Amino acid sequence: MEEKKRLLGMTLPELKAVAAEVGLPGYATKQLADWLYKKRVSTIDEMTNIAAAKRTALSEVYEVGMASPVDFQKSVDGTIKYLYAAGPGNFVESVYIPTEDRATLCVSSQVGCKMNCLFCMTGKQGFTKNLSANEILNQIQALPEYDRLTNIVFMGMGEPLDNTDELFKVLEILTAPYGYAWSPKRITVSTIGAKGLRRFLDESDCHLAISLHSPFPDERLSLMPVEKAFPIESVLDLVRQYDFTHQRRVSFEYIAFKGLNDSPRHAHALAKLLKGIPCRVNLIRFHAIPNVPLRTSDVEKMEQFQTILNGHGVTCTIRASRGEDIFAACGMLSTAKKADSRRK
Ligand code: SF4
Repeated sequence: MEEKKRLLGMTLPELKAVAAEVGLPGYATKQLADWLYKKRVSTIDEMTNIAAAKRTALSEVYEVGMASPVDFQKSVDGTIKYLYAAGPGNFVESVYIPTEDRATLCVSSQVGCKMNCLFCMTGKQGFTKNLSANEILNQIQALPEYDRLTNIVFMGMGEPLDNTDELFKVLEILTAPYGYAWSPKRITVSTIGAKGLRRFLDESDCHLAISLHSPFPDERLSLMPVEKAFPIESVLDLVRQYDFTHQRRVSFEYIAFKGLNDSPRHAHALAKLLKGIPCRVNLIRFHAIPNVPLRTSDVEKMEQFQTILNGHGVTCTIRASRGEDIFAACGMLSTAKKADSRRK
């Protein structure tokens, strides 16, 4: 039997084409979007203002396409890592992080990743596929804590700007009046600086986070092969062409590795590199992964690094570590599940 097409993840023009295909009037497009993104139904049958015969016709070809997580791990600190199926034998993770004043979901955009960053478990998986808009949005829509969600970060498995077409559909649905109607200020796209960056800066008002990890090109290259094709200097030149003083913010992610990139020399060089960009640096503890000889920096070192950056006028925060007991480093749970499914 042919697999049904999924409505969840379709933009308004795509829903319009679906409505026309089954002979629904033009105004039904908005009704479909309402049922999907405002009322968040899980079956076509629940779309009761659409004539029963049309719902039957729709159901022959389409389904809503919402799927619950297949597994989860909950940390003692309340962080929950969810695992979603993404086609046969493939899984992706999203991480729900509640704090006192907000609840953030870290969303995946690819199964595996091409970028092969040294410190990343997802990179070790290699690249399998881009997630569809349905598979990306489902991580948000099917989240058991959806009603408490305040922020979304595209910082899970995969490089979101290596999957721009599907990412942009999701960003549109999240922010458009016909969709979730969220403010772009609640959404951050995190990138290592891939080729979709200019398009993102031109077409989206969502916040931007850039993984930097070393101010020195050679050293950054040893951590992140992307430095070769997209040197951080050119990424920053591009960033400098856009306004980050009003609605949109840019931040830089910096994982502190013990004895590698956590020295005062690095902190001073980082401040110099970021000169003139109104930004924040998030200093992050490293979650160790198997077979990689990198260790997390000491707290004192990170605080010293933070003080130096702050002294240069660069706001630097040390990100509180969350979910350490459930291996919050992205890619761990899905790697285990993938190995499991191969054994079965
Ligand atoms: S850190 Fe991000 S871009 Fe690098 S390998 Fe991991 S998922 Fe890919």
